[in-house]
Amino acid sequence: MKYLKFKNSDEQVAIGKMVCVGRNYAAHAKELGNEIPEFPIIFLKPASNVIYSGDAVIHPSYSNELHYECELVLYIGNDVKNANDKEAENAIQGFTVGLDMTLRDLQNEYRKKGEPWTLAKCFDTAAVLGEVVLKKDYKLNGTEKISLSVNGATKQNSSVANMIFPPVEIVKYISARMMLEKGDLIFTGTPEGVGKVVPGDKIDALIENIGSIKTNII
Ligand code: ZN
Repeated sequence: MKYLKFKNSDEQVAIGKMVCVGRNYAAHAKELGNEIPEFPIIFLKPASNVIYSGDAVIHPSYSNELHYECELVLYIGNDVKNANDKEAENAIQGFTVGLDMTLRDLQNEYRKKGEPWTLAKCFDTAAVLGEVVLKKDYKLNGTEKISLSVNGATKQNSSVANMIFPPVEIVKYISARMMLEKGDLIFTGTPEGVGKVVPGDKIDALIENIGSIKTNII
């Protein structure tokens, strides 16, 4: 079982499901040749995929295109179903930075065949997490910068203001379809600039006022 790491709290919270939003930044949808979605595109990752800042991402041998995706991650702090605006806002109890590691070659193959993306998104070490900042310590203002560099060169540099579906809308949309529980995480999508990493590469990811991640590929 994997547990969240909090800044300023020793609370033990097991990570539940990780719900991820695809194509939530218009410029990223475009760079992969996709249309801007009318509704959030949702997929899941299992908690067993989690590693933390400082750990290494293990490049699967069956892929030739491992991509990074830097994302704002929402921490769900109470159970919620069919949330309205206020309930959605209350359910988001914290924030962290996350990497949604993706096997792009497999994802493209599955998309072409109309098959589920699962194995392109789910593999051991496919989700890298920073420390969770609780909302009582920091309230998202919606304009935080989000950036990622590989070996010191900036690859992603945007703002969470560029999300198509903001956090409250995402929580409302998901909770109308499946219950969210304390310990669940929501990956809110990545801005443009995704790209390939290979063993030996070092990644630094940062969300302004929220936190950072350091990892390397082995
Ligand atoms: Zn993603």
